[in-house]
Amino acid sequence: CGIVGYIGNEDTKEILLKGLEKLEYRGYDSAGIAIMNDDGVHVFKEKGRIATLRENVDEKVPATTGIGHTRWATHGAPSKTNAHPHQSASSRFTLVHNGVIENFTQVRKEFLKDVELVSETDTEIIVQMIEHFVKEGLEVEAAFRETLSLLKGSYALALLDNENPEVIYVGKNKSPLLVGLGNGFNVVASDSMAMLQKTDQFVELMDEEIVLVSKENVTIKNLDGEVKERAPFTAELDA
Ligand code: GLU
Repeated sequence: CGIVGYIGNEDTKEILLKGLEKLEYRGYDSAGIAIMNDDGVHVFKEKGRIATLRENVDEKVPATTGIGHTRWATHGAPSKTNAHPHQSASSRFTLVHNGVIENFTQVRKEFLKDVELVSETDTEIIVQMIEHFVKEGLEVEAAFRETLSLLKGSYALALLDNENPEVIYVGKNKSPLLVGLGNGFNVVASDSMAMLQKTDQFVELMDEEIVLVSKENVTIKNLDGEVKERAPFTAELDA
């Protein structure tokens, strides 16, 4: 169970797969990545090993933005369908999530009566809620914050919007998540180890914070939308 993300100028597939391999030690039963380019978002996911995922990622799809996930199933058996990333009904939004949403049955009843779910995961509720609030007229960031404020439980999240290739939306509550700072790129990871290949400058997130991660900027906010300043720390490889 781990998350990675990259937004920059380099091809992201290898960066994400290498990052996931560094997170293998945390344990997992399936893995997946979503990469975004001008044609939209492309999802690759598999039950089992990252090596299997690697074999099934289409090398020919270029992309410089992406998110990745190793899953330790809590809701829904390990399977390709339940593997992350998960997408909203229209496929506009794509999400990876570590953690457990405790009130997913209630929020589903309240907000998603008309939405047909594809997976058995608690995670899919999150991405469907974001789309629900966007359809009701909220901007994506506001829909993201509104959704997170309604959730009970733990999450480290990364979200792609195929109508906005400039941003990875990140959220955190009671699950570890760091944003790594680069020159002309930025990264996301559950553990700095996953992205030490790219940078050793990381920003720690507090619970109930979101981050807007673009190539050049990292903006941390609380769920009310107030901007939070945070100095980075230097991560070191454990000897
Ligand atoms: N609860 C989610 C699921 O079962 C995420 C599990 C994880 O942290 O990997 O799919």
